Amino acid sequence: MIESPEALDFTEKREHMVTTLIANGYLKTEKIIRVFLQMPRHFFVSEGERGFAYADYPMPIPGGQTISAPHMVACMTELLEPKATDKVLEIGAGSGYQAAILSRLVKKIYTVEIDENLAEFARQNLEKAKITNVEVIAGDGSKGHEVAKPYDKVIVTCATPEIFDSWLKQLKTGGILLAPVGEGFYQELTRIKKTRKGLEKAALGGCAFVPLRR
Ligand code: SAH
Repeated sequence: MIESPEALDFTEKREHMVTTLIANGYLKTEKIIRVFLQMPRHFFVSEGERGFAYADYPMPIPGGQTISAPHMVACMTELLEPKATDKVLEIGAGSGYQAAILSRLVKKIYTVEIDENLAEFARQNLEKAKITNVEVIAGDGSKGHEVAKPYDKVIVTCATPEIFDSWLKQLKTGGILLAPVGEGFYQELTRIKKTRKGLEKAALGGCAFVPLRR
């Protein structure tokens, strides 16, 4: 198959993005690097923004929301320690890109999105990328997604004032939850490991996400 000049251009940009993410220490794991090299991020941004899809900053998507910067997606994907058998719950589908990256590393993803138009945007983007193991649910993710519990991993991609009980209850023992916790412009990226002995909490540094809405 002969690739169009546009597709070749995106491949070069994507390789450059990945090289930079590795050099800056955000991408470390071989199988995760492979997925970043293959996933067409330009499918997940608005049409007019495609030329910038591989720049390392967050970008606007419909509804006044943002697709997270590549280094943030890299960082969270590494911290989630994805396994091929994992069932994952994401809160905040947005563009669907984070779920798309995870889709190649885990078994199944349920991603909840409060904005119905964005839920549809994510579904269409995932379809363009031929991804079939992500289910996008329109609804309030602060309640988690009860019907498909329990989850091996929970990833929250909007700034949350607290770690809701529903998320912890729907997480398996041995599971990992990642969330930006805080109410200001900056939040603390927080990881919780649910062990037999209780919750192990770690603060991993500052980050900036759009806020969770109810
Ligand atoms: N993971 C996304 C980035 C998400 S931006 C990506 O890869 O593109 C945060 C998203 O969380 C926004 O789309 C916003 O609409 C959504 N959101 C905010 N509050 C929410 C809630 N209570 N439940 C589910 N989604 C929510």
